[in-house]
Amino acid sequence: MDTSASTLAAPAPRRLRIAIIGAGMAGILAAIRLKEAGTHELVVFEKADRIGGTWRENTYPGLTCDVPAHAYTYSFAPNPDWSSFLAPGPEIQRYFEDVVRRYAIAPLIRFGCAIRSCRFDDTRRLWTITDDQGRDDDFDVVIAATGVLHHPSMPALPGLGEFAGACFHSARWDHGVALDGRRIAVVGSGSTGVQIVSALAGRAARLYHIQRTPQWIMPMPNEPYSEAQRAAFRADPGLIDEIRYGEHYTGLVRRFTRAIIDADAPEMHEIETIVRDNLERSVRDPQLREALRPNYRAACKRLIYSSDYYDKIQQPDVEAVVGAIECIEPEGVRMKDGSLKEADVLVLATGFQADRFVRPIKVRGRGAADLDAQWTPSPSAYLGITLPSFPNFFMLNGPTGPVGNFSLIDIAERQWAYIEQLLAPLARAECALVELRADTLRAYDERRITAARRTIFGSGCSSWYLDATGVPASWPWTYEAFAEQTAKPQAGDYLFTA
Ligand SMILES: Cc1cc2nc3c(=O)[nH]c(=O)nc-3n(C[C@H](O)[C@H](O)[C@H](O)COP(=O)(O)OP(=O)(O)OC[C@H]3O[C@@H](n4cnc5c(N)ncnc54)[C@H](O)[C@@H]3O)c2cc1C
Repeated sequence: MDTSASTLAAPAPRRLRIAIIGAGMAGILAAIRLKEAGTHELVVFEKADRIGGTWRENTYPGLTCDVPAHAYTYSFAPNPDWSSFLAPGPEIQRYFEDVVRRYAIAPLIRFGCAIRSCRFDDTRRLWTITDDQGRDDDFDVVIAATGVLHHPSMPALPGLGEFAGACFHSARWDHGVALDGRRIAVVGSGSTGVQIVSALAGRAARLYHIQRTPQWIMPMPNEPYSEAQRAAFRADPGLIDEIRYGEHYTGLVRRFTRAIIDADAPEMHEIETIVRDNLERSVRDPQLREALRPNYRAACKRLIYSSDYYDKIQQPDVEAVVGAIECIEPEGVRMKDGSLKEADVLVLATGFQADRFVRPIKVRGRGAADLDAQWTPSPSAYLGITLPSFPNFFMLNGPTGPVGNFSLIDIAERQWAYIEQLLAPLARAECALVELRADTLRAYDERRITAARRTIFGSGCSSWYLDATGVPASWPWTYEAFAEQTAKPQAGDYLFTA
């Protein structure tokens, strides 16, 4: 990449001090890549006492990834040992722990270190990072890998504090609470709610799945891999590549993103037909079938993948409760229709505050630019990575990146490859600062918002894809477009300050 500062006479390479905030999938990726490059000094800040992010915090029964496990794997660390097509959550956590061990990343991580603020000093051209103990540290570059679905969203239900039984959010599962033979109410019908209900059916004495809006369900078989298959993966990594890069999965992703951006595309009608047939075929009782029929288009909310939800919800011990909650009472959940769903355990599968990203960290950029102000009412970042006024500050899985029914590892790897190219002129000392141009973001947002309104996400449902202004916040173009635009930074998009 040509930079405007590249005419400087062959300066000596610079060893950069780089801070990575977060040791989830994305922060680990950045740490491995930077460690491998071997040129810079690295510190990874992680507020928890273990790596893993999402997979450390979500330990609920039934958790699996909902993309093929072989695609939810770093490209450089394939895992022939996945136990099933969609791997269980604890196995994914073990995978990340194993990768961290193999790449010897742990010594770089400061655990139990929650970052409170990042302040850019215009004079020294450094970022000062402050943790919750008030300790400061200076860095040339900050990589924020603080997560997308990280801050639990607690519903504002009257009486929630009065519930007499055990109550917890799905991302804060209380494993000390007995489940077998108890009455359990699960609130929320996103992927998590569906996975929990499928897992607990047959275990609880009575299981209520309380949902304001039912979901379209895409059938997705989850077959275990046999030992023979795993041995074959070990012997021939090409078999893993075939799952990850082969036409079956990549074709699905391609068709899916095409459907998302063009609600009238044949690919969208194909999805609609599959989910409608699934509902018609799987739910026998016509009354229940109608109750479970969403009144919005498929994929408007994130599509739910499940092979067994419809079977489980029809078991005699399970009840789908479709409707609004009036309040929580000590004995259970009072619905607006007056019925009381008595429960011993209340699980809030109510999702995450999907607009937080780096926040609540206070980030002050050039000229004390305030990230929170820049992100009010809704956050944006160029390709989910960079922002004007925040030089040498890069995000992984930041706002407006693709989030959907495909592997976020692939997305993060593409973003990282892009960031590496922006770090290169800094490391070659061709410039001291790389900063997105304000007009680059402005033009991007104009195009993005226009395109986003036309996506299926904007077709008339409420979902966590929508930002505070009602615009779908996710990448509104094809997967291929994301791959193309992140392949190489355009020098004209950035200011390179010597
Ligand atoms: C239940 C669930 C299922 C999912 N399933 C899939 C799936 O099947 N496929 C898929 O592609 N994606 C899935 N996702 C999305 C998932 O979040 C991403 O795939 C991925 O794990 C995100 O990694 P990350 O590193 O960006 O963020 P996270 O995993 O959230 O990690 C962020 C890390 O940053 C740390 N951190 C945050 N703030 C601070 C701070 N101030 N100071 C220090 N440390 C901080 C956190 O403690 C955490 O460890 C799922 C998400 C959830 C919640």
